[in-house]
Amino acid sequence: MEFWKKMPEHGKKGVIESCWCGSCMKAVTIENFTLVFKKPDLILQGFCKVCGNDIVRLVEGA
Ligand SMILES: [Zn+2]
Repeated sequence: MEFWKKMPEHGKKGVIESCWCGSCMKAVTIENFTLVFKKPDLILQGFCKVCGNDIVRLVEGA
């Protein structure tokens, strides 16, 4: 949680906008995501903005 709190807004934006969608086969924006803290990592679980596919973005060492 601290990691995400401390992360600058543009850093968060970078993570949010660079999630891999296995359906679109490209980096997409994740939306309606929830944050899951699984030490030491942070996981964003949400949906692809383009196709609605479930996607998960791992941020290492959160
Ligand atoms: Zn997609």
